[in-house]
Amino acid sequence: MSTTTFTKKIIQMEAGDTKLTPPSAKSAPAGFAKKPRLAGKSKKRDIPEGLWTKCPSCSAMIFDKELDEHLKVCTKCGYHFPIGARERIHSLVETCTFEEMDPSMESVDPLNFVDKIPYPARVQEHQKETLLKDAVLTGLCSIGGHRAALGVMDFSFIAASLGSVVGEKLTRLVERATEKELPVIIISTSGGARMQEGMLSLMQMAKTSAALAYHARSRLPYISVLTHPTTAGVMASYASLGDLILAEPGAMIGFAGPRVIKDTTQAELPPGFQTAEFLLDHGLIDAIVPRTEMKARLVEYLNFLTVRRRRAGA
Ligand SMILES: [Zn+2]
Repeated sequence: MSTTTFTKKIIQMEAGDTKLTPPSAKSAPAGFAKKPRLAGKSKKRDIPEGLWTKCPSCSAMIFDKELDEHLKVCTKCGYHFPIGARERIHSLVETCTFEEMDPSMESVDPLNFVDKIPYPARVQEHQKETLLKDAVLTGLCSIGGHRAALGVMDFSFIAASLGSVVGEKLTRLVERATEKELPVIIISTSGGARMQEGMLSLMQMAKTSAALAYHARSRLPYISVLTHPTTAGVMASYASLGDLILAEPGAMIGFAGPRVIKDTTQAELPPGFQTAEFLLDHGLIDAIVPRTEMKARLVEYLNFLTVRRRRAGA
């Protein structure tokens, strides 16, 4: 039996069923991109469609609606599919409490950089596809009764690379948190620096780290959550500076990729190298938290980390 015939199966759904943001074609693993729905006149026009998604880890077929309800976590094996920043915020904060900061901040093109296409065209292309202005959303919100400053990165926007906008938005978020004496939570994912912004991109590492140092000096907690994949400049700056560092199961976390390290050191890498599980065993991260438990665990940690300030009447 050919499995390919079962990778997409159209089934009948009740009218009015809406889906949360599906994994975009860019963020979906290879071979996993969804075909656009038929826009033309079809005999099936009056039948709403639902789709099954094949889990790349256990090959189970999961109904998209079920996948959305489980925050894009495979119900059979726990594989964590990519998830957008908006959907993640929705899963973490109390309804309607997210006050977005700097929603219209956009990249400029200081180097007149052209790779396959000019940088401004690349930014525009991603803005159109993701409906985001850049690779991070930041804002103040309520989580389990705590006011907190939350930043969430989105890999589907130029691999969540650390450009000037990401650095500036996160820095402003942390500065606002310091001013208002709030804890900071940053959910990271990133392919690294944004090469189209050259040195300006690298400067964001120092800028965000400095803002976090001032925040720490005020004895305010910072929880860093690492999701698949968190690498390079982001991991080498704010993502690894948390008072608590959490990770999603199976997340790839590291600085350089395994192939580069292998070629440089000429040594065999240990099994599971650069996974969240490996890094937990070696003490780099504090806990692995499944996405479906993330909110409850964050609230628990915030209760713990802010107890002294509350007792002091702060
Ligand atoms: Zn699975």
